[in-house]
Amino acid sequence: MNTVCYDEIRVENLEVFANHGVFPEETALGQKFLISLIMYTDTRRAGKTDELQNSIHYGEVSAFLTAYTKEHPRKLIEAAAEELAEELLLRYPLLEGVTLELKKPWAPVGIPLETVSVKITRFWHKAYLGLGSNLGDKKGYLDQGTRALDSIRGCRVEKVSSYLETAPYGGVEQDDFLNACLLLKTFLSPRELLDRMHEIEQEAHRERRIRWGPRTLDLDILMYDDLVMDSDDLTIPHAEMHLRDFVLRPLAEIAPNKFHPILRKTVSQLAAELAGVDEK
Ligand code: ADP
Ligand code: MG
Repeated sequence: MNTVCYDEIRVENLEVFANHGVFPEETALGQKFLISLIMYTDTRRAGKTDELQNSIHYGEVSAFLTAYTKEHPRKLIEAAAEELAEELLLRYPLLEGVTLELKKPWAPVGIPLETVSVKITRFWHKAYLGLGSNLGDKKGYLDQGTRALDSIRGCRVEKVSSYLETAPYGGVEQDDFLNACLLLKTFLSPRELLDRMHEIEQEAHRERRIRWGPRTLDLDILMYDDLVMDSDDLTIPHAEMHLRDFVLRPLAEIAPNKFHPILRKTVSQLAAELAGVDEK
């Protein structure tokens, strides 16, 4: 999330006997694994109220980690660690992020070593997405897109703007658009999220023929935390968001004070500036 979380609840070297491994002996006989965990969560409320319901029950977490690790053998400790981190983020709403280390003591590699381990850190992020449709049942497509995003594992739609009817962009003669923005809580990386968004666009039978041409459903990543990135097929913040009234108006409804990390202005400032330019 955007706010930095300084509090931690830690579990160190939880012992679990499990069957992760690549070698047949490992999967058949099993071996001891050690799990260490840092849970990033604001402990202030629990600290002030002294009530367990305001915190994350580390006993319950440890029992869950033990059971899950035993029931889900994986070849790689990378895969086992990834799944555990995701499951924890999904199960504990107060958890903002987690660092999880999975150690394999005396890993059977034929030479003496103490432990081998992987250590990963995973956080919930906040992504703002833009949605647009100008073909067929436009409202239906925006609804469908929103539902599809919410049903992705590791994605939760937290806010949706109103749907705004807007004139087409880019000079191609076509029907009006219906646009919206939403706030997505996600532990997917930007690239994973873009891939899933493309699948949802495909499901809505979007045909990518003309740039800025008619489309049943267009999904864009506008911002992702305060991330700035520019690769061949993914630019964040979206390169044209500050020039698009149909992005800024709905976005200002749900995130007026969200700061654009490059332009150093809030969404409502950008919206006001663009409206000012248009009026001239
Ligand atoms: P637009 O959204 O500008 O109307 P398209 O939806 O056809 O155009 O997008 C074309 C390509 O833009 C996508 O295939 C994607 O790889 C790339 N792209 C770059 N940055 C982004 C972003 N932030 N969100 C979505 N797509 C992006
Ligand atoms: Mg797009």
